[in-house]
Amino acid sequence: MSRFLSDAYASLVPYEPGEQPKKQTFIKLNTNESPFPPSQKAIEEGEKELRRLFLYPDPECTALREKIAENLGCFIRKEEILAGNGSDEILFLAFNAFKDRGFVFPDITYGFYPVYARVAGASYREIPLLPDFSVDFKRLREAKENVVLANPNAPTGIFAPLTEVEALLSERSDRLVIIDEAYVDFGGESAVSLIGKYDNLLVTRTFSKSRSLAGARLGFAVGNEELIRDLNLLKYSVNPYNVNRVTAAMGWGALADESYTKKNCAAIVKNREKLASEIAEMGYFSLPSKANFLFVRHEKASGERLYRALRNEGILVRYFDKERLRPFVRITIGDEDATAELIAALRRIREEL
Ligand code: PMP
Repeated sequence: MSRFLSDAYASLVPYEPGEQPKKQTFIKLNTNESPFPPSQKAIEEGEKELRRLFLYPDPECTALREKIAENLGCFIRKEEILAGNGSDEILFLAFNAFKDRGFVFPDITYGFYPVYARVAGASYREIPLLPDFSVDFKRLREAKENVVLANPNAPTGIFAPLTEVEALLSERSDRLVIIDEAYVDFGGESAVSLIGKYDNLLVTRTFSKSRSLAGARLGFAVGNEELIRDLNLLKYSVNPYNVNRVTAAMGWGALADESYTKKNCAAIVKNREKLASEIAEMGYFSLPSKANFLFVRHEKASGERLYRALRNEGILVRYFDKERLRPFVRITIGDEDATAELIAALRRIREEL
């Protein structure tokens, strides 16, 4: 570190992104990307923008936000939407804009939440997940701080019913509840339907998973108009042109091709269920997932050992060096071929345990 770094960041531990191997020889199941390419419509719309890249993009992302509103239904208007450079940027803006009350979130969840809280200089508390890895809603309801909840949660994949989310919202209207729905398209139910009823709800979504646009960086927030205005206050104070032309157009194109997204999500859910049932027969255990990944363990091996064994088989997954997570690996759901190869590899590995 240089002698110029602010003391505020001297002890900051950044988020560690999953490995992006230089050679694509691995079956890559480590960062919850889609195994499918972007929709052809998204590619065509993005390509049209290449020749216009000498112009700044529309800072308001008007066409994209109109399309998102249309796609969401639930009487959502474009004024209730903010587009961002991945949902990571949206979360960063939210942790800064709404930091005064501090935040609570589960101890096992998306690793970026504590990092964003620290960068924002916000206080935060972690509420332990229950022994079955479900969210402790009783303790979250009692908290005075703003709540941040990934639903489905990561890296567990467990989805909490909307009735629990609604109870959180109604318990304290002076407290903001942020629901991170990065993985909602794989079997969960969106809290967007509650936005008209609760002005203390902010939902974040991404195009990185179900819409195959992780590399384009596109996410959005949906919430009451005033919340969106607050986020815009920060956005226009940091980076007004946060979504580039190609990405905004690709997002629009992806939304214009809903049947492609639906088909891909259905394939991923099918592969997830096949993987869960086949490996259960081999003695592996996995948590009930509604996401595009499965959290898997075997009683005879640590997560790190499973990670290394799968790596030797040419399959990249992720393990976490954190209490309670050490027995597990998180495996992204791939296409049919990847799923078949993964099942075969897990069978060979089981023989050697
Ligand atoms: N929330 C959760 C729970 C995630 O796992 C991720 C992906 N790493 C994100 C948000 C951020 O996704 P993106 O910035 O690609 O939209």
